[in-house]
Amino acid sequence: LAADDSVPVATLLERPEQMIRAPDQARNSRLPLPGELYLPRINSRGIEFGDRMALDSLLQAVGSEVLPTAAVTNATEKDAAIAVALARTGFTFWSRTSADTRATALERAAELLEQRMPRFIALLQTEGGKTIDDAVSEVREAVDFCRYYAIEGRKQFGDGLSLPGPTGESNTLRLRGRGVMVAISPWNFPLAIFVGQVAACLMAGNAVVAKPAEQTPRIAAEAVALLHEAGIPDTALHLVQGDGKIGAALVADEHIAGVVFTGSTDVARSINRTLAAKDGPIVPLIAETGGINAMIVDATALPEQVADDVVTSAFRSAGQRCSALRLLFVQDDVADRMIEMIAGAARELTVGEPRDPATQVGPVIDAEAKARLDAHIARMKSTARVHFAGEAPASGNFVAPHIFELQSADELTEEVFGPILHVVRYKAADFAHVLQSIASSGYGLTLGVHSRIDDTVETVVERLAVGNVYVNRNMIGAVVGVQPFGGHGLSGTGPKAGGPHYLPRLATEQTVTINT
Ligand code: GLU
Repeated sequence: LAADDSVPVATLLERPEQMIRAPDQARNSRLPLPGELYLPRINSRGIEFGDRMALDSLLQAVGSEVLPTAAVTNATEKDAAIAVALARTGFTFWSRTSADTRATALERAAELLEQRMPRFIALLQTEGGKTIDDAVSEVREAVDFCRYYAIEGRKQFGDGLSLPGPTGESNTLRLRGRGVMVAISPWNFPLAIFVGQVAACLMAGNAVVAKPAEQTPRIAAEAVALLHEAGIPDTALHLVQGDGKIGAALVADEHIAGVVFTGSTDVARSINRTLAAKDGPIVPLIAETGGINAMIVDATALPEQVADDVVTSAFRSAGQRCSALRLLFVQDDVADRMIEMIAGAARELTVGEPRDPATQVGPVIDAEAKARLDAHIARMKSTARVHFAGEAPASGNFVAPHIFELQSADELTEEVFGPILHVVRYKAADFAHVLQSIASSGYGLTLGVHSRIDDTVETVVERLAVGNVYVNRNMIGAVVGVQPFGGHGLSGTGPKAGGPHYLPRLATEQTVTINT
C-alpha cells in the first residue's frame, strides 16, 4: 500500500502482512489533544490523526445538521408483540436469501454511514454527550462492524463446509438463521453496539427486533432507517423503542429465537431467568456486561507511558465504557511517583461540553448517572485517600475525573461506570494475592498489564480468565476484527463482538448427508 492509501479495517484483515500494524491502531484510543482528530479511516500506518483543517471542516458539517426534536413515541407491550409477529414473517424471506445478498446490504449500509458521518456525529453528541473524537471513532466502528460481518458472513454462510465421507456420500455442514433475535443495546455506544448487534444478527440470516436504550432513541431510529435504505427489508428489521419494561416484554415473547444483550450484569441475569422459565424451545442469550477492570503496573513499567495509558483507560469517554479501567494495582516501590504522574496527566484534561472541540471529557449520560457517581465520590472522599479531584462545569451532567487510593481491592465491590479511578498499592512479594483478588471479583472483561518482564506478563495472561488483555498500552477502544471484544463470568457469555466466532453463535447448524 502506498503511504497515503486508505482502506477500511475489514480490507486490512485480508492482507495479513498489514496485521503487524495492529498495535499502532490501538493508539486510536488515547485521549486526543484539543484540535486533534482521528481520520475516519484506518490506513496502512494505523489510525491517523487529521490536521486542524480536517477538524474544522468536519465540525462545520456537523454544525449544519438539523436534528429531529419531536418526542420519540415509546412502544406498548402490544406493539412489541406485533413487531415479533411481523419479524417472524420477515424471517421466512430473509433466512432464504443468499449470504451474498445480505452482505451486500451491510456493505451498502457501511457506505451510507460514511456518507452521513456528520449527521451521526451530531446525533451522538446531542443525544449521547460524545466528544468529537469519541463520536468519530464510534461511527467508524459501526462502519467496521458492517464491513467485517459482511466479509465473515460471505465466508461462513456461503456454500457450507464440505466434510469427508465414504465414497457415494456427501456431507455438508452449513449455518442458518435461528429466527427472530431480540437485540437490546446500551446508551454508551448507541450507534456502534446497536449497529454491530443488528448487523451480525441479520448477516446470520435472522430477523431482528431491536430495542435500543431509552436514553438514545433517535440514533437508533436513524440507524434503522439507514439499514432499511441499504436493502434490509422492513419485515426483517423492526425497531421497538422504550424502557426496560419493553425489553422484558420482548424477552418474554414465546416466538423469539435468541437474545443479544449488552448492558449490566443484573439485567443479563434477569433476561436469563425469563428465558429459562419459558416453556418450549431453549432460547440462548448472548450477553456482554461490565467489569471491575484492573491494570497491574510493576516497578519496571515506563512512568510516562503508564500515565498516558491510565488516563486514557480510566477517563476517556468519561469512563463510560465497559472496558474502562476501574482498579489500578501499582507496585509500592514506584507507587508515589506513578500516582503523581497520573494525577498530573489527569489535571491536564479539559472537562466540558461535548460540542466544544477542546473537550476531552464530556458529560455522563443523565442526571441519574451523575447522582450515583457523585454519591460514590462523596463516600470515597470520606473513606479513601484522595489523590486527585478534578473540576467540572457546575451545571449539566458533568462528573470530574477523580483518583482515590484504597487500602484493599475488596473495598470496590461493584462497577462504577464513570471517570473514577481506584488505586491499590501492592508489594512484589504479594503479587499472587493481586492476581487472586482480580480473579475472585468474578468479572473478566478487560485487563491491563504494564511490565517489561516477560515472565510477569505471561503469568498474568495465563492465570487470569479475562476476555481482553492489553500489555504495555491502554485497555480501551477494541478495534473490530483486530481485537475481538467481550468477556467471561460476570462480564458476559462470549462470543466476542468483531471476532470470527461471533456469527456462528447467532445461527443454527445443519448437517446434510446425501447418498449420491
Ligand atoms: N468495545 C469498547 C472498547 O473496547 C467497549 C464497549 C462497551 O463499553 O460496551 O472500549
